Amino acid sequence: MNQTVQINFPNNINLAIKREDLLHPHISGNKFRKLKYNVLEAKRQNADSLLTFGGAYSNHIAATAAAGKEYGLKTIGVIRGEELADKIKSNPTLSFAKDCGMEFVFVSREDYRKKTEEEFIGKLREELGDFYLVPEGGTNQLAVKGCEEILTDGDEAFDYIACAVGTGGTISGIINTSKPHQKVLGFPALKADLSFDIAKFAQQDNWALITDYHFGGYAKVNEELVAFINDFYAKTSIPLDPVYTGKAVFGVIDLIERGYFPDGSRVLMIHTGGLQGIAGMNKELLKKGLPTIKT
Ligand SMILES: *Cc1c(COP(=O)(O)O)cnc(C)c1O
Repeated sequence: MNQTVQINFPNNINLAIKREDLLHPHISGNKFRKLKYNVLEAKRQNADSLLTFGGAYSNHIAATAAAGKEYGLKTIGVIRGEELADKIKSNPTLSFAKDCGMEFVFVSREDYRKKTEEEFIGKLREELGDFYLVPEGGTNQLAVKGCEEILTDGDEAFDYIACAVGTGGTISGIINTSKPHQKVLGFPALKADLSFDIAKFAQQDNWALITDYHFGGYAKVNEELVAFINDFYAKTSIPLDPVYTGKAVFGVIDLIERGYFPDGSRVLMIHTGGLQGIAGMNKELLKKGLPTIKT
C-alpha cells in the first residue's frame, strides 16, 4: 500500500510511503521479502532448522524467529555478545525470539566476526547438527529475489525510489525491478561503503547512495533524530524505527528541503519496517536519560 504523506513540501514535491511495515505483524517489511524464498529453499532441501546471525536488537533475528514459528522450522540465532546470555528477559528482541522458539548461541565479538568463515560454520554444524544457513542481515541471491517483489504495478509513476540500506540486499531487489527512468536512492544506516555489495546483486546502474544520514554509525541516534521521528509520527501517524527508516526518511525530507529534487518530482519511500527495534532503543535511551521514541 502506498500512503501519500501530507506535508507541504517546497517545489510541488510529492512524497509517498510504501508501507511494507504492514506486510506481516512479526516478519517485518523487508525481512519478510528476504526470508520468503530462503524458507521455501530450506523446505525444498528438507532442512529442519534455520541458523542465522544478529546483534542484541536485530530485526533480522526477530523476523527469522517468527518465520520459523510460522513455517514450521526450528531456528537458531548466533548472537553477538556473550554477556547477553543472562539478559534475554530484559531484552525485548531476544525474549520475543525465544518465545517464538529460537535457540541461541551467544558468542564473543571476536568469534562473531568469523560469521562468514567456513571453518566457523563447520564448527557450528558439528555442535548443532545440520541447518539451512541464512547470512547476517539475511542477504543472499534468494533474498534479493524476494525484494524484487517490493515494487508493484503503478510504482513506475514515481521518479525516485528511496530506501534505507544495511547490507544492500533490499535496495538491490528494488533496483532490479525499477524502470530505467527511475532513480533509486539508498540511505546507508552505517558508515561502511556498501556500493560494492550492491553492485554484486544489482542489474542496473540507476542508483546512488546518499551517505550523509547515518547519524554517526549503525544504531547510533541523537536527540535530533528522535525528535524528528516523534514529529513525523505526530504529523502522519506513520511510525519509523530509529536504526533504518527514521534516518532514511530524515534524509529524504532534508533533501527535499534543500532542493535536491527537481520541481514536481514524485518520490516513493519504501518503509522497510523494523518497528520491533523501538523498544530496545528506548531502553538504551532511558538509560542515558534521553528522550524516547513515542509509539
Ligand atoms: C534490515 C533492515 C534494512 C536493511 O536492509 P538490507 O537489505 O540489509 O540493506 C532496512 N530497513 C529495516 C527496517 C531493516 O530491518
